[in-house]
Amino acid sequence: MVSGAEGAMVGALDRPLSLARYDRFPDGLLDVPAPELWRHLPGPSLFSLDGRQSDALFLSVLLHGNEDTGWRAIQRVLKRLQGRVLPRPVLLFVGNIAAAKAGVRTLPSQHDYNRAWPGTTHPATPEARVMQEVVAITARARLFASIDIHNNTGNNPHYACVNDCGDRHLQLARLFGRTVVYFEEPVGVQSAALARLCPAITVECGRPGVEAGVAHAVELIEAALSLQHFPAHAVGDTEIDLLRTFAIVKVPADATFSYDGSAADFAFRGDLDHLNFAELDVGVSFGRSTGGRRLEVASADGTRTDYFHYRDGEIRLAQRAIPAMLTLDPDAVRLDCLGYLMHRIGRDGRRLADDRG
Ligand SMILES: [Zn+2]
Repeated sequence: MVSGAEGAMVGALDRPLSLARYDRFPDGLLDVPAPELWRHLPGPSLFSLDGRQSDALFLSVLLHGNEDTGWRAIQRVLKRLQGRVLPRPVLLFVGNIAAAKAGVRTLPSQHDYNRAWPGTTHPATPEARVMQEVVAITARARLFASIDIHNNTGNNPHYACVNDCGDRHLQLARLFGRTVVYFEEPVGVQSAALARLCPAITVECGRPGVEAGVAHAVELIEAALSLQHFPAHAVGDTEIDLLRTFAIVKVPADATFSYDGSAADFAFRGDLDHLNFAELDVGVSFGRSTGGRRLEVASADGTRTDYFHYRDGEIRLAQRAIPAMLTLDPDAVRLDCLGYLMHRIGRDGRRLADDRG
């Protein structure tokens, strides 16, 4: 699901990249900001930290170099627990240190660190080999749960993502909040690989650099560290707002786009990201297209559904949908996508009847 980086990856298979391993967390790292980690760590690093209970919490941070909320959160948690034994063992994976140095999601020469986990379409890249090693090590531990911490670029609420609607995955997601997104695409993500081993979620903590996101991630980590076991009862339909990603929306690689009304193949509305998580009706406009250009809409289940119609150059929703991660960040659009389209689902993964528009 990487877009522009595919070409750069080919021929880069011999780039050396190896996993560094540590059996303690040096106090010196407690105050190091993400862009400075390269001075202290040689590359992607796995810390195995002891704890009282038997089952370990697996945490991954900085899979995207410019999303530092997870790193700030684990620093704060470990600082609070400094000099004490952790409530349970922690396996901490600190991912893309080179991209963090550059302040970007992924370097042009790299395979996206959250598209390289087992299940990826590119299993022979150096990044994929590192993730295979991390999963092999993790699979040998007794695991309690896995949490992968991210930020995004648009106006979004905090929410958890799951790749499995089983009760323990949803119980873990509930520790973060009641908005839970189930997704199958893109593949090669951390939470999909870890969901085969233990309850696993990805959490989206809003934009980087916002204190509320760090505080929320700290709460989640501390809750997962102190929870003895997940509640035995099933998660009820009223306890969560369960949504499913049905389509990924991309701007064609050769197309131009703008948000300020200036001339481009796609002139999106300037408040596009304020549509995120709103239940939109048929006819809501995303902006205008010229020259007959069309957005690329790939549905997760392979079926072709028309999500947009184009009349008089206006891009309008052709069916009801709930967008997520619509972004005004051109780099995010080029490296990842314009955003996702979701629908409310029941526990069986099917769209709720009242959502059909
Ligand atoms: Zn991310």
